[in-house]
Amino acid sequence: MFSETQIIVLIVIALLGHTMALFWYFSDKRNARLCRKKIYNIPYKEGQIRREVLNSVHTPIHAIMLAGCLYFGFFTNQSTFSFFVSFLGTFVWAEIWHYTSHRLLHLRKLHWIHREHHKSRVNSPFSAISFSFSEKLVFNLGIMGLMVLVDIFVSVNFYGVAAWYIGYLLINSFSHANFEIKSAGYLKFVGKFLTSTTYHSLHHSRYINNYGLGTRFLDRLLGTEWRDYEELYQRLTEAKSPLNDINEKLPPYENS
Ligand SMILES: [Zn+2]
Ligand SMILES: [Zn+2]
Repeated sequence: MFSETQIIVLIVIALLGHTMALFWYFSDKRNARLCRKKIYNIPYKEGQIRREVLNSVHTPIHAIMLAGCLYFGFFTNQSTFSFFVSFLGTFVWAEIWHYTSHRLLHLRKLHWIHREHHKSRVNSPFSAISFSFSEKLVFNLGIMGLMVLVDIFVSVNFYGVAAWYIGYLLINSFSHANFEIKSAGYLKFVGKFLTSTTYHSLHHSRYINNYGLGTRFLDRLLGTEWRDYEELYQRLTEAKSPLNDINEKLPPYENS
């Protein structure tokens, strides 16, 4: 039913979230060079890691739902061209779907789905895999749902979609942490368009704004980006001076 390569790819997707969380957690514990630019000079809450690890039991759902798509005969295109188009299509759609669904999940009526993920105000590497089951379902149904719909009209390549998931799991693993792995020069070019660990940390600590997944486009377009982000990023990466209070802000905001 599944080819050997497909099974290997599905196993990688099922285990990558935990593997990367463990990697970053122990790198941080050993004070590895990449983990030294702290974002918040605040310890994790008591029991946070245990709670996040318990929530992470849902993480293999990405692989299970992708296997379901294959089982029902979707994503069969094998051409190289379709690989790149499927990857790009998933990338663009995931940015739109994540931003839209994320903002909806911050509405009072839907927030129960998203509350668990937000219990982490200062992120640990395990925050990246700490979601409620319903949130993972919303995320995957949205992303794969549209790709399945597209597949009815233009056949989609499994490996293109899977490559996006692998990239997502890799990048998301260090987008949730209390250290910035990128350099001070990041914001000069790539960082103008792409998010960072600091970017997503501000969403967790302040609870609103910076809703984007991998890119800053929609936050900037719709006015939901924290305006002190770039200055904060420079301070954390150049002066290596972390934030000392969860509510700390830089101009144009005033600290209350
Ligand atoms: Zn949120
Ligand atoms: Zn998060």
